[in-house]
Amino acid sequence: MSLIDSYGRRINYLRLSVTDRCNLRCRYCMPAKGAQMLPHHEILSFEDLLRVAEQAVAAGIRKIRVTGGEPLVRRGILPFLARLGRLPGLQELVLTTNGILLGEMARGLKDAGVQRLNISLDSLKPETFSRITRGGKLSDALSGIEAAEKAGFPPHKINVVLMRGVNDGEIMDFVELTRERPYNVRFIEYMPTHSGNWRAFSIPGSEVLERIAERYLIEKLAPGEHSGPASNFRVRGAQGSLGIISAMTGHFCGSCNRLRVTAAGMARGCLFSGDGVDLRPLLAAGDDTLLRQEIRNIVQAKPAGHEMKGRAAFPPASFHMSGIGG
Ligand code: SAM
Ligand code: SF4
Repeated sequence: MSLIDSYGRRINYLRLSVTDRCNLRCRYCMPAKGAQMLPHHEILSFEDLLRVAEQAVAAGIRKIRVTGGEPLVRRGILPFLARLGRLPGLQELVLTTNGILLGEMARGLKDAGVQRLNISLDSLKPETFSRITRGGKLSDALSGIEAAEKAGFPPHKINVVLMRGVNDGEIMDFVELTRERPYNVRFIEYMPTHSGNWRAFSIPGSEVLERIAERYLIEKLAPGEHSGPASNFRVRGAQGSLGIISAMTGHFCGSCNRLRVTAAGMARGCLFSGDGVDLRPLLAAGDDTLLRQEIRNIVQAKPAGHEMKGRAAFPPASFHMSGIGG
């Protein structure tokens, strides 16, 4: 069974958010006071999340990324992941985390069947890390990353959201990191979550690449099975690699293969497509065939792209990434 949208794209990747809570408060993701949290009763139970995942896989999803908020703060996450990983037909179970709790949980995640980790790490300087995350400790994230390596995960993907004047001075430090370690460091264009002067912050991927190429000899890598939307490069002789994710300026949407479901059961075909479709009434009705049909309908209604270019007010409605899962 495959899920093909009305533009001929094969949708095989589900980003499943399990919580809107987080132990950090990243400036690009949440307001200072923290986003308005969902009341507990509005967050899908693990049973319902599993039903959504099961029907999505039955419809054609092959890869699930568990995200949040911070997925590792949700109590009971490890047994949930173990059940998710056993869904017949699911080929890849991966997770995105800020790494803070990996020190204590990496081994459990590996045992639960999580295959790979994406770890967000926006600075290698303790003060900048703390400023971006509003109080996070860099040492916790770094020891988490190390614990996950020891637990036997394949080389991590490290996600860096670049912001002009905040952490773009560290681009070369991250490049150096790939010379020493086998990580795939991915520079992500800052995405606006509310209308405003976000263009002042956002750094086009093309500029990042030019800045790196001025200093290093870089080789383009062939698109790999796990490269997703990133264009990947390697600095000659480096152990690891670099990725550029031009979420805003690039030709990203034409090959989009994703579907998103939030912790509150809202399914979205596109990050920027409004509130999405509420799956809770279908979950409450207990009819999984209808649930699967609704997933197909959402894929059919997936827009061609986010149509950001030329729009002064973008995004059309503000939201917090922590509530959707990135
Ligand atoms: N807490 C986990 C983490 O930070 O990795 C998972 C959830 S977080 C919302 C998922 C991803 O979204 C992270 O890699 C984060 O950097 C990214 N993200 C959040 N807000 C963003 C923004 N405004 N622009 C680009 N990426 C963003
Ligand atoms: Fe939390 Fe991740 Fe958002 Fe940072 S990016 S506030 S770690 S959900």
